[in-house]
Amino acid sequence: MSDAQPAPHAPLSEFDLIRRYFTRPVHKAALGVGDDCALIEGRPGHHLAISTDMLVSGRHFFADVAPRALGHKALAVNLSDLAAMGAEPRAFTLALALPEADPAWLAELADGMLALADAHGCELVGGDTTRGPLTLSLTVFGDVPHRAALRRDAARPGDDIWISGTLGDARLALGDCRGEWLLPEPDFTQVRPRMDTPTPRVALGMALRGMAHAALDISDGLIGDLGHILARSQVGALIDVDALPRSAVLASQPEAIQRECVLAGGDDYELCFTAPAGNRDALAALSERLALPLTRVGTITAEPGLRLVDHAGNPTRYTGASFDHFASS
Ligand code: ADP
Ligand code: MG
Repeated sequence: MSDAQPAPHAPLSEFDLIRRYFTRPVHKAALGVGDDCALIEGRPGHHLAISTDMLVSGRHFFADVAPRALGHKALAVNLSDLAAMGAEPRAFTLALALPEADPAWLAELADGMLALADAHGCELVGGDTTRGPLTLSLTVFGDVPHRAALRRDAARPGDDIWISGTLGDARLALGDCRGEWLLPEPDFTQVRPRMDTPTPRVALGMALRGMAHAALDISDGLIGDLGHILARSQVGALIDVDALPRSAVLASQPEAIQRECVLAGGDDYELCFTAPAGNRDALAALSERLALPLTRVGTITAEPGLRLVDHAGNPTRYTGASFDHFASS
């Protein structure tokens, strides 16, 4: 992170903007701006983990998206931030701006959202509704025992870096929708749910308490998101790009597309976490128990910076950028 002041009219990045105008030291909270969730005192022995995520039509989803999928995704991306802290979902609020009140559309939206809420025991406890451009802003609340939260500032040199599931399918599907590349129909059908109805890794996040050091969910692309762990933990990382887990559909794409999708593709909502090497066997057992692949992709280093290598250990370059709402438009 740089503290340099941008020139008066230089464009502010999303993170510069948050840091400059909205990041304050906290006195009552245990953790403020800068992690997947904030932490405030909760029920005895616990912190309450809190996160807000907003989805805006035309920016985070296509205006003609199926409402059931939209309802699911709006909650899923919020539950994913709880998962990234190791928190157990408890409740959420829903702020909704709607261009019109269409009963059939609303019923589908609510069904998609509340089915996922019920699956995680997360209760809808309030919100706000107004007419306006279609926008959903949810705030989730979860419980995490004191000192058990998986914070971005907790990575240590020598930690292994792990990724859950596979990376890049959501970006692969998005690229097809945008006409950047064209996938055979069966391939698109296979990867599309990763973009439309992501799975928050809640059980994994909770199981990683005491086993992982740092964690976050990959919403903006691995390179940028891992950068947040490195900055906050004041460490570096060595990543084996060829080890990054990808689906068979993505693995059949040209190398350049694979790299773009696994390194900079957002919206997969997998967890990236660091853990001591002594926990490898326990993590392999956890992977089996959850029927969720966990892949070791690199190491945290004392030397700052992110270094990418291929399987043979040769340095490799990637010049693409992670997603930023203000740097790209
Ligand atoms: P995530 O991708 O995990 O949801 P973001 O990248 O959206 O996190 O946000 C980064 C950090 O900045 C988070 O801690 C978030 O709570 C905080 N943040 C984002 N926007 C604002 C804002 N307008 N005011 C205060 N904090 C904010
Ligand atoms: Mg997050």
